[in-house]
Amino acid sequence: MDSPVLVALDYAEETAALTLAEQLSPRLCRLKIGKELFTRAGPGLVRRLQDMGFEIFLDLKFHDIPNTVAGAVQAAADLGVWMVNVHASGGRRMMEAAANALKHHDRPPLLIAVTVLTSMTDEDLAELGYAETALQRVQRLATLAADCGLQGVVCSAVEAPLLRRQHGSGFCLVTPGIRLAGDSPGDQRRVVTPADARELGADYLVIGRSITGARDPLATLQRVRSELGLAPA
Ligand code: C5P
Repeated sequence: MDSPVLVALDYAEETAALTLAEQLSPRLCRLKIGKELFTRAGPGLVRRLQDMGFEIFLDLKFHDIPNTVAGAVQAAADLGVWMVNVHASGGRRMMEAAANALKHHDRPPLLIAVTVLTSMTDEDLAELGYAETALQRVQRLATLAADCGLQGVVCSAVEAPLLRRQHGSGFCLVTPGIRLAGDSPGDQRRVVTPADARELGADYLVIGRSITGARDPLATLQRVRSELGLAPA
């Protein structure tokens, strides 16, 4: 049941998300719920999908004062999600508070950090007053996240080999920007195939439009799994 494929439910409506989920199977993938769908459909949808057997990555990228983020992460754990994330740029005290909030939970979710959003360029960082390049900042924030007791980071496949070398096999690397050969990249800048992402060191692959936009999402998910050398069922 430990599928590396996380299907991003980037929908504006609950019905569309449920329709897609009904075509997939919790034996083959996990599901990621982000800000748009969660803001519309809330914890009720998370529970429904969990009742269908799916494990959920609640991708709300919390970033606030330590006390607030600790409470939010605790709420996600109480909801029973499998993975939750925070922005590493919230700093040490915020990440430690989040990790501590999960310490005594029965089944704590994996707690991971967003380092630098892949939409940010070196120029964007300079405008914010950061002297580091995006890659330098990714490394700094990943090291800080690991030091605060977080289990991994979201990163681009391009960054994965370096982070894997620096943090070893126990550090969880979650990678978006995946496209099957022949798919349109859409707004993603650097895309890799599922097999390449695994090769580069990703543990979990976030895949949105390549699966949600396919004529046959289940067949496409099976194609991804077969590219990864996984059993079809
Ligand atoms: O449709 P696509 O496969 O590009 O979707 C990728 C998913 O991963 C989206 O939900 C997007 O918000 C998310 N994501 C990303 N880049 C990041 C973090 C998350 O594309 N750095």
